Amino acid sequence: MHGKSFNADKANNSNRKSHSLPQSLNSDYNYKNSSRNLLTRQPNTLNKIENRARAIVTSKPMFLSRKSEDSYSVNNNNLAFNSQPSFSVLEQSNRDFFGSPIASNSPKSFPSGKPVRIIPIGGVNEVGMNMTVLEYDDEMIVIDTGMGFGGGEKFPGVDYVIPDTSYIEQNRHKLKGIIYTHGHLDHIGGAPYILPKLGNVPIFGLPLTLGLLKNRLAEFELQDNYIMKVVELNRSLKLGNFTIHFFRLNHSIPDNFGMAIDTPMGRVLYCTDWKFDNTPFDGQLSDYAKLGRFGDEGVRLLMTDTLGALRPGYSMSEKVIGETINQIFAKAEGRILFTTFASTVARLQHVVNACILYNRKLILLGRSMISTFNTAYELGKIKVPKGLVIEVNQINDLPPEKVAILLTGSQGEDNAALNRIARDEHPQIKLQGGDTVIFSSSAIPGNEESVQDLMSRIAKKGVEVLNHKEFDIHTSGHAAVEDIKMMLALTKPEYVQPIHGEYFMHQKLANIAVSMGMDRNNILIGENGQIVEMRSDKVVLTDNRVTDSYVLVDGSGIGSVSQVVLEERKIMSSQGVIIVVLLINKQKRLVGGPETISRGFVYMKNNQELFQQLEQLIRQKFNSLLIDPKSTTYFSELRANLKQIIGNFIYETTEKNPMIIPVVVQV
Ligand SMILES: [Zn+2]
Ligand SMILES: [Zn+2]
Repeated sequence: MHGKSFNADKANNSNRKSHSLPQSLNSDYNYKNSSRNLLTRQPNTLNKIENRARAIVTSKPMFLSRKSEDSYSVNNNNLAFNSQPSFSVLEQSNRDFFGSPIASNSPKSFPSGKPVRIIPIGGVNEVGMNMTVLEYDDEMIVIDTGMGFGGGEKFPGVDYVIPDTSYIEQNRHKLKGIIYTHGHLDHIGGAPYILPKLGNVPIFGLPLTLGLLKNRLAEFELQDNYIMKVVELNRSLKLGNFTIHFFRLNHSIPDNFGMAIDTPMGRVLYCTDWKFDNTPFDGQLSDYAKLGRFGDEGVRLLMTDTLGALRPGYSMSEKVIGETINQIFAKAEGRILFTTFASTVARLQHVVNACILYNRKLILLGRSMISTFNTAYELGKIKVPKGLVIEVNQINDLPPEKVAILLTGSQGEDNAALNRIARDEHPQIKLQGGDTVIFSSSAIPGNEESVQDLMSRIAKKGVEVLNHKEFDIHTSGHAAVEDIKMMLALTKPEYVQPIHGEYFMHQKLANIAVSMGMDRNNILIGENGQIVEMRSDKVVLTDNRVTDSYVLVDGSGIGSVSQVVLEERKIMSSQGVIIVVLLINKQKRLVGGPETISRGFVYMKNNQELFQQLEQLIRQKFNSLLIDPKSTTYFSELRANLKQIIGNFIYETTEKNPMIIPVVVQV
């Protein structure tokens, strides 16, 4: 990357983002604690582990290494164990496994000492908001600060969800650095909310990742507040007792990497968001050689992405997606509108290539599309010929079959370019018969309805809408079953911890590992915030959690939605609301009401009769309430009592639990 100039005048469109790229991309080094400490080769650490691995592995029978730690220590010198080799493994395995299990080269024990703690605080049993903490003694490193989308049944009325970082905030003096694996929002999106809470900590990543992170921070005018350092794939990074080796992994965005993190309790292989693709759009293969080397040297724990674990076979190559896009361009007669996540950079290159092939000019629409496209271009991650990209106001100078538009709005977002065009609110672009709109992404859970609405609205204008399964971009960036098997075969981990995916995806990954002979006890499926400890004799999922909640971002306010508000929204949306109004006088006697108002409370039988009974009941019970009229807490006690009376009655008669709001007015 040092050969590239970031302010080069090669960018050929004037929409280029005005703010500059991370300063550290241009300068060799600017982190004050000296590069020699932060970025140095650590051959000694590797050799040490390698030697230890060899010494231990070669002194034991191979099958022993797949046994759980308990049985291993008991049977350390006990040949009785030989008579039933791998029996318990086979017992728990998928039935299709009959061969020898893959044998990990990781040392089985480490010198006693403090454990290394591994804590995913987001991204486990969910899709989005990936973030993991590694901690040893008084040192801590963080990987990614992702965000998830709100909405749906889980987070009604919430815009974004980010991990609860209070544990890191409390320990921020320990924090040595934050490493970003790649530039997708589920890995960098939480940065503007999270980084300000963590102090002045150095940030590491590859150029495109840091460029996109800087764009994301710029949305909050925070882009100049952080020291960002570009890592090099062939140099190790030492942060305290953690020595990190980087290696390339394929994904739907360039500059994605995995990490081998050497800790005092063994090596962790961290592989989030990856697939194997031998014909990637940028020609950069996953680094199989390094993976194999790590496997030979010994991997104690593999942490891996599970999003693609339900898809059989190998994951689809980006090349296939490029070919499909070409086929669509070949057939389309009018304008082509192509919408995708801007951060799926591989897809942007495919559209550029199709434009070249089928002689169309390209227009970029939407803030994130323009900024991502330009960042990727400036960093040489996508190749765009001069003159291909034109301004939107030139659209009418060209016939429809000479134009393609790359735009935001694939999730049906209200303010995105595509939605504005569909509502006829765009000043230059009106949809017309003959146009083709391609949704090159799958709807994120919670967005399905708005995406479908948008598609219908567009289709009604006589426009062809394409939403082919082949464009399922999110999954196409993630390892399928055979990729996962290959990863396990290459790296031979002793333990596996699934991350990044729903529980059933983690479970599927566990089954894959077991089918290759891994002991199910060595697969650690936890929860967000649950601490995994790498101890000298074993790796365990502990019962301790540092968090079990989220931070919800509602509108521009952060953390403004508490769990209570969220619960209320859930009740109101599913069960409705009942409001009961009472008038009392100064002597606390009932002088008016009760009057009931209900909204969204669905009880089809005779509602009127129900509410009459309820009002009757309140009148009866009111006089027998034992609340001191002079008490300062009279009103809150009264409301609590009323809530209980009304709630019980409604539940007994209707088996429903609407939200109940008693309103007491003193006249
Ligand atoms: Zn990703
Ligand atoms: Zn991801």
